[in-house]
Amino acid sequence: MKKKIVIVGAGFGGLTAAKNLADTEYEITLIDRTNHHLFQPLLYQVATAALSPSDIAVPIRSLLSGYKNIKVILDEVISIDKDNHLAKLTDSQLNYDYLIIAVGAKHSYFGKSEWEKIAPGLKTLTDALTIREKIIEALELAEKENNPELMQKYLTFVIVGGGPTGVELAGAIAEIAKETMIKDYKSFRPEDTKVILIEAAERILSSFDKKLSEQAKEDLEKMGVEVKLNTKVENISDDGVYTIQGFIPAKTIIWAAGNQASPILKSLNVETDRAGRVIVNKDCSIPGNPEIFVIGDAAYFEDENGKVLPGVAQVAIQQGKFVAEIIKNEIPFEKRPVFRYKDKGTMATIGKAKAVAEIKGIKLTGLFAWLVWSFVHVFFLIGFRNRFRVMIEWIWYYLTKRHGTRLIVGK
Ligand SMILES: Cc1cc2nc3c(=O)[nH]c(=O)nc-3n(C[C@H](O)[C@H](O)[C@H](O)COP(=O)(O)OP(=O)(O)OC[C@H]3O[C@@H](n4cnc5c(N)ncnc54)[C@H](O)[C@@H]3O)c2cc1C
Repeated sequence: MKKKIVIVGAGFGGLTAAKNLADTEYEITLIDRTNHHLFQPLLYQVATAALSPSDIAVPIRSLLSGYKNIKVILDEVISIDKDNHLAKLTDSQLNYDYLIIAVGAKHSYFGKSEWEKIAPGLKTLTDALTIREKIIEALELAEKENNPELMQKYLTFVIVGGGPTGVELAGAIAEIAKETMIKDYKSFRPEDTKVILIEAAERILSSFDKKLSEQAKEDLEKMGVEVKLNTKVENISDDGVYTIQGFIPAKTIIWAAGNQASPILKSLNVETDRAGRVIVNKDCSIPGNPEIFVIGDAAYFEDENGKVLPGVAQVAIQQGKFVAEIIKNEIPFEKRPVFRYKDKGTMATIGKAKAVAEIKGIKLTGLFAWLVWSFVHVFFLIGFRNRFRVMIEWIWYYLTKRHGTRLIVGK
């Protein structure tokens, strides 16, 4: 009988593992709670109306339809029964010989889950569309407001968290609020809008070289973003953000401050880090169960220098390939190789024609970094159609400075 492999999650890690196990003798079932593979690095562009959802998401089924041994199931895995080799779905269960868990991460509000309703984070297409509607709606409310205090609240956009997502969002919102969309409104001027990036640490982009963090801060400030460092958020309400340095009235608050692993990992009953990520073995399997692998954002992996691998797409992709090879070759636990991450560099874009990048020790800033960023992002997008559409959208935007997808449809 054919051996069964169950893969949970069709993000970067799960999809790579599935593709590397395609056309083998294994029977593979790939389960995802959404029907699409999402290119998260460009989500902020959907949230800021530069791209449409279909530009950065592809139906999983269509990506894998050519492989006879891979079945795709749209469902949520609720828990894992390790003893009986079962993945439990909402109303069924699947038996496995090997299990690959690649469920990514979700937002962490540091125990204040009530903030989520007011300050959405950015992980899914739904999140991006919620944020897009919030931004456009705030501008619409400001346009018809006569009370100057309320108008200021509608025109204030606060982003909490100065990692790559927070920086990219702050830059893109500043472009909207101070340069592009603002032209369509008659009641306020660019200088009436405020974009505030709040960071608890002493610098933004703390995983980058210090000089690049400083450059990113300077670039954001030139675009009109107020960067508040060493500023902890104490509370969030419908009225605005309470920080240790005072209250900021704001209608639009976006959360980009923390990650937390998926709750299904708890059912594995193995050691996790503070964020709930599974502390995996050097072959990405879990202690005591060499047939179960946890990869990507869901895994806590220390490299040979004791450095914890970052939650980035390349780690998930490389781990997906690595565990597929172990399974294909049926390597017994004692003989398995150690996973080694090849760091291809990190980058973050700040706005039109501005980015910072660090590639193999080389630091890049400004237009050149942005060109590299654009090339890499288009190259790694899945599907020729998406690459082509994104390039056309970008060219259109950079020539006309007009955002394409500005509809409010949620109402
Ligand atoms: C806004 C944003 C910007 C980013 N920018 C960059 C960047 O510029 N460069 C970079 O390298 N990285 C970036 N990242 C990080 C990168 O996207 C992640 O590291 C990568 O997606 C992790 O891959 P993964 O396979 O572990 O999880 P994901 O890609 O998150 O995939 C997880 C999949 O599992 C599914 N799933 C979750 N739980 C279940 C369940 N219980 N049952 C069934 N399915 C489930 C989800 O629907 C999802 O499809 C960014 C992330 C975000 C959110």
